[in-house]
Amino acid sequence: MDMEKLVALCRRRGFIFQSSEIYGGISGFWDYGPLGVELKRNIKEAWWNDMVRNPPLAPGGEDIAMVGVDCSIIMNPKVWEASGHLGGFADQMLDCKKCRKRFRADKVFCYFLTEGPIPMLEFQGPLMKDSWTPTKTLSCEANDTNEAFSILQAMHKRLVEKKKLRPSLEFVTHQTPLDVPRRWKLPCPDCGDEGELTEPRSFNLMFKTWVGAVQDDSSVAYLRPETAQGIFVNFRNVLDSTRLKLPFGIAQIGKAFRNEINPRNYIFRSREFEQMEIEFFCHPDESMKWYQYWRDVRIRWYTQLGIQSERLRPREQGKEELAHYSIGTTDIEYLFPFSEEPQELEGVAHRGAYDLTQHAKFSGKDLSYFDEQLWERDKSKYPDAKAAQEAKSKEPYRFMPHVIEPSAGADRFALAVLCEAYAEDEIGGEARTVLRFHPRLAPVKAAVLPLVNKEGMPAKAHALYRQLKGSWNVFYDDKGAIGRRYRRQDEAGTPYCVTIDGQSLQDDTVTMRDRDTTQQWRVPIAAVADELRRRLEPTL
Ligand code: ATP
Repeated sequence: MDMEKLVALCRRRGFIFQSSEIYGGISGFWDYGPLGVELKRNIKEAWWNDMVRNPPLAPGGEDIAMVGVDCSIIMNPKVWEASGHLGGFADQMLDCKKCRKRFRADKVFCYFLTEGPIPMLEFQGPLMKDSWTPTKTLSCEANDTNEAFSILQAMHKRLVEKKKLRPSLEFVTHQTPLDVPRRWKLPCPDCGDEGELTEPRSFNLMFKTWVGAVQDDSSVAYLRPETAQGIFVNFRNVLDSTRLKLPFGIAQIGKAFRNEINPRNYIFRSREFEQMEIEFFCHPDESMKWYQYWRDVRIRWYTQLGIQSERLRPREQGKEELAHYSIGTTDIEYLFPFSEEPQELEGVAHRGAYDLTQHAKFSGKDLSYFDEQLWERDKSKYPDAKAAQEAKSKEPYRFMPHVIEPSAGADRFALAVLCEAYAEDEIGGEARTVLRFHPRLAPVKAAVLPLVNKEGMPAKAHALYRQLKGSWNVFYDDKGAIGRRYRRQDEAGTPYCVTIDGQSLQDDTVTMRDRDTTQQWRVPIAAVADELRRRLEPTL
């Protein structure tokens, strides 16, 4: 599948536009158009419905307790000190002093060539040992090593053909700039100038702003880089106001902002995006069970919404990748057409008691959980008030819950849905482009089309349209030949078309058409709503 075709379709049909396009756009920001906003709302509603209002039952058949919150984007900056984002939420960056482009060091790949004997280098980790330097270095930006290899090999070949590189130069090794000795002069992946790249240096990804009239250090605040922290800092509020008992989850959908160095791959990595996050609080002894539960639930959710299982891959992070506090993390990845390796759609992380402990420490507030039931059962065991008081403040009665965090991106999933749905086929010898959305996610559920704009067909069609739009997002279209109108609905991913034709005026039946099979059949006009409900709602 060709990403360029998908991007063009999304713009032409009003799924996604570049932000502030008439001013030349702004890198890393996107707008959703009339069809895109419906698709994204459907994604968020499906998530909220399936995870918060009606989550799958627990392994033992019990109900899962879930509630939601909607927190502010700007929070007290102490939140980000406690969470570690102010200190550590940084990527290693390189700048080109010549062309002024900035690159993420782990997304730049270098290819080292030499003339003469190939030196023995230490291939693992930094190549610091020898005084050796490569004769020539090529570099590029890529998502992963495989992609980098194909780009660099092609570059190498092209340069030799154009006689810009001696054929006697042999390939030695490849590395990211993070792993090469400082003295090696690296070319800029964009302008190609050698020796103009800075050392890798940290760059904080949070957008900074000032609150109030005075812009000084005391008024600095940040746009949240994730929605999760709003949940942690409200843990006590939710507990006190709902009297929920462990285990339970708090969910939030909302915007997050990251000043990504290299926003790329369309809406996959942008600077403003929406997250759908759950913090599931549980007893430490049960945390592995819940980690497993959420991994399974989240993988199944994607499959149920039409993501082909062979493109979807759960990947358990290796020990070396894990954040220092994480006991385990599974990335749910999807094989996007722009990359050779699957890329993260969602992370399901076992975060232990890290976040609550940090916020308790930084705020000075008690964020522990008290198991009232257990205390009621045991309290009579304690001989006197003093012993009881002491026991009550400790385990097993009072403890820090563990947290399982399924954290998904609404925009990344929207992109996966678009990639998965995009298809080109042939109908009656004519090429068509179709978006085979799952009916739950389809922006428009049905189109109502009068065959011609006369003989009473528009009036009948319009009455049906009015009836249906009370239940679903339906579209009325009376412009152009019927075949073209079908094609337009296929491109928008509309599962059903309902056509009012000459026969409708005689016997009050209409033609229904299925987007995927293009099959058509007749239905009494009075039964259209039921027919649509029957076909859409088992999956809605
Ligand atoms: P990556 O490694 O791709 O930068 P991450 O591991 O930093 O992602 P998390 O902090 O785990 O991402 O965020 C959870 C989810 O939020 C991701 O799985 C992704 O779906 C979404 N997300 C994160 N950064 C972006 C972004 N820049 N643009 C769009 N979605 C994003």
